Amino acid sequence: MKQIKTIGFDADDTLWYNERFFGEAQTALKVLLQKYADEKVVADAVLEMQRENVVTMGYGIKSFTISMMEVALCLSNGKLDAKSMAEVISIGRNMMAHPVDFLPGVTDVLEELSSDYELVLITKGDLIDQERKVNMSDLGRWFKHIEIVSEKQPATYQTIFNRFGNMKQSAMIGNSIKSDVVPAVLAGSWGIHVPYEVTWELELAEPMTDHERYFEAKDLAQASDIIRSI
Ligand SMILES: [Mg+2]
Repeated sequence: MKQIKTIGFDADDTLWYNERFFGEAQTALKVLLQKYADEKVVADAVLEMQRENVVTMGYGIKSFTISMMEVALCLSNGKLDAKSMAEVISIGRNMMAHPVDFLPGVTDVLEELSSDYELVLITKGDLIDQERKVNMSDLGRWFKHIEIVSEKQPATYQTIFNRFGNMKQSAMIGNSIKSDVVPAVLAGSWGIHVPYEVTWELELAEPMTDHERYFEAKDLAQASDIIRSI
């Protein structure tokens, strides 16, 4: 008898592309600020500003946009003109309209797993933006439960997974070791890391390679095989 009953999935850069839109926005910001600072300085300043801002504003595009505005003011010594600031705002606003594109092979794996397991989407970020992406992608085909949370801590996974069964019958799959896998394993469930090609610096963490409930997979198809072998 299979042990796993519930599978939690991260969304951004696990099911669909996300980091690339933040990268494109940063590229546009670097062009806008090129007379004040070189690219590396802009990138470092944005990262530091985000590190501060996620604490009070959370994850996602709105917090990122305010970070870009603060960086623009700071690196220009307050000299950035209003028109350029309006451009910074529209870089952020345009991100809110980005398309939802599934990563290769994702829909096949969801189709296959959804007939045998209870699938739960567990994502953090802007509520409205995540709701938009959930609606656009028609995830209801495979997921009966969608959880949009402000932070992914062990208690977050305990609360969600205990509603559907016990922790040992639950597994979490995601591209962030720090947010998706480590806290889920610490909470008592299984965790499978499926890396995306780029990891945001604030999501970097050491893998728990020696832990019996921690796994690495190269893609969702391999993660699915692991789930079936547990
Ligand atoms: Mg992610």
